[in-house]
Amino acid sequence: MWAQNWKSIMDLVMPFPTSPALDVTSELLRQGYTPLRMFQVGEEFFTKMGLKPLPPEFWRSSVLTRPRRPAQCSASAWDFCNRIDYRIKQCTEVTTQDLVSTHHELAHIQYYLQYADQPQLFRDGANPAFHEALANAATLSVYNMPHLYRLGLYNNKSVTEQPLQLPLSLPHHSASSLSIQMSPKSDDHVNVDDFFNFKRQGSRAEV
Ligand SMILES: [Zn+2]
Repeated sequence: MWAQNWKSIMDLVMPFPTSPALDVTSELLRQGYTPLRMFQVGEEFFTKMGLKPLPPEFWRSSVLTRPRRPAQCSASAWDFCNRIDYRIKQCTEVTTQDLVSTHHELAHIQYYLQYADQPQLFRDGANPAFHEALANAATLSVYNMPHLYRLGLYNNKSVTEQPLQLPLSLPHHSASSLSIQMSPKSDDHVNVDDFFNFKRQGSRAEV
């Protein structure tokens, strides 16, 4: 519905299709990673760039693992609009995919934190696509060999010596880009959606 996932055309557009998959799940498990540790690593990713640490309310109230009760488990990030309470709901498993998703959701939280001091009206992305674009920019910076090597999760030293190994890194970037909303197509989708809402609500705003 939201044009978020284009993975089904992967076989048509994947560059260097014979390149090995980038999967650090076994290394995460071997090193005893937990969902909590994955979120701590994710927080570090942002604080090392000088961005804001997660507030105590985040750690106190977020749902980071699958609860015992039935739950809708799609990952999501929430701003409770009181300038202190920000939470993520994600039934995190210790996998490569969830490590990436963790950073994606934390980027949404970081976006919330950055505009927390704005008046209520301005506490949102200028357009929903901005939020996703920011989160996916973070995702692309995480799901690549040099970064995973620096985290001690990917074990091929040559990736740091030759960071532009396109045949190796491009397929993974392509996979990320297709599974998320980096494509201009999705921005168009959001714009059409906004246009529809303006029309439906009888707004006289220029769009
Ligand atoms: Zn998102």
